[in-house]
Amino acid sequence: MPFSRRRFLAGAGLAGTAVLLDPPLPALAGTPPANAPPANASASGIIRRKVGSVEVTALLDGYMDVGPDLLVGADDAQAAALAGAAFQEPGPRRIPVNAYLVDLGDRKVLVDTGTSTGMGPTLGRVPALLEAAGASPERIDTVLITHMHPDHVNGALTPEGGPLFPNADLVVTGADHAFWHDDANLARAPAGARPFFLGARAAAAAYAGRLRLIEGEGEAVGPIRAVPLPGHTPGHAGFMVLSDGEGLFIWADTVHVAAYQFAQPEWGLAFDVDPQQAARTRKRALDRAAADRVLVAGMHLPFPGFGHVAREGAAYRFVPAEWDYGS
Ligand SMILES: [Zn+2]
Repeated sequence: MPFSRRRFLAGAGLAGTAVLLDPPLPALAGTPPANAPPANASASGIIRRKVGSVEVTALLDGYMDVGPDLLVGADDAQAAALAGAAFQEPGPRRIPVNAYLVDLGDRKVLVDTGTSTGMGPTLGRVPALLEAAGASPERIDTVLITHMHPDHVNGALTPEGGPLFPNADLVVTGADHAFWHDDANLARAPAGARPFFLGARAAAAAYAGRLRLIEGEGEAVGPIRAVPLPGHTPGHAGFMVLSDGEGLFIWADTVHVAAYQFAQPEWGLAFDVDPQQAARTRKRALDRAAADRVLVAGMHLPFPGFGHVAREGAAYRFVPAEWDYGS
């Protein structure tokens, strides 16, 4: 009989494990389920670290579950084996949605914005976390958007649809802006993808006059450079933060499901606009991160999402960074 956490907690399996739990652990019975909201949502989900003289704060907007039906090019048996290797059951993978506040000293830059209220109660915490982190939305000078999917750009809006960041420029790649504003793409899109287009357009419209489009590799703001990572969306981009000889590569959605895609970088997600290009880009980014030994951060890497990439033959492994306890 395979050992499972569910059976472990269900009681039926406790007889067999009693010897391991002698004395029993009474706290187990009272432990809230993993998906219960934290007691103080605004006090958790904030982790800071220094990159040179720049302070980077990871913000946990929340989480979503990625069902097996959303994987592209995946093999069920291999997925089950990778889930087992990650001490997880086969089935949906729970992934975080992260955003990053980059404090340049003279400017506060937010990289992606989370989801606002549009994607359900497990998400939408970025505004409260910004307040708790001492960077209320009106203090943000620049919002960099890695791509215009709802879990990245919808948080630029208030629940009423206005701009949440009244003093910020919104910076988006020209390629992504063009893709989501192309009526032919909207007409071709399946019904389920229509809200993606409408969300992207609503965000751009709310920042009319303060919208800045960037192209290719180059300066986004101050020492933060854009790195094109096309495939997931046509204008999907990462941002490289460079300061005092240190670097942080915020690679956006290069990896969605860490338990699978470091081992199987060919596997994509149904949300990839071009899955083949996304896979090529993912492997190139993984190669570069491993070869350069650069610190990475990702919007769906296990929170806070800071870590390194190790090469293992044709595959890769994510090595979470130690917390920067001093900051
Ligand atoms: Zn995403």
